[in-house]
Amino acid sequence: MSAPTIDTGRDHHLEQSLSSAVQFQERWWAVHAKCKGKTHLFFAPAGERPEARARREDLARKYCAVCPVQVPCRDEARVNHEAGLWGGENEEQRAAAGYAPRAITRRAVQVAVSVGSRQATAS
Ligand code: SF4
Repeated sequence: MSAPTIDTGRDHHLEQSLSSAVQFQERWWAVHAKCKGKTHLFFAPAGERPEARARREDLARKYCAVCPVQVPCRDEARVNHEAGLWGGENEEQRAAAGYAPRAITRRAVQVAVSVGSRQATAS
């Protein structure tokens, strides 16, 4: 009897092909980024409180919403397990999609578990 297959929601083919592409093209999309000069909106300062984080990320997402390279930005962040907000996604959203940041936070784990529980309950 074989072990059951667990669907983690990750697209391994996408991950592999993007990883290869990134090695050769090194963020070709970055020249089109709408967030140039706005790094402070996309990465949390030390000790940031939840309310401040929500405000900062809401503002950052407004840039992402009109950014022409949102998809490659989001996909590269997923593949590289980045921290911060990329392509409109924060760490918790990447973790829920199966691409947890390397230095995962306790909060990210709680959100990913919560999302997984909701998906299991819905199916
Ligand atoms: S999608 Fe957002 S984070 Fe990515 S390059 Fe565009 S503005 Fe920056």
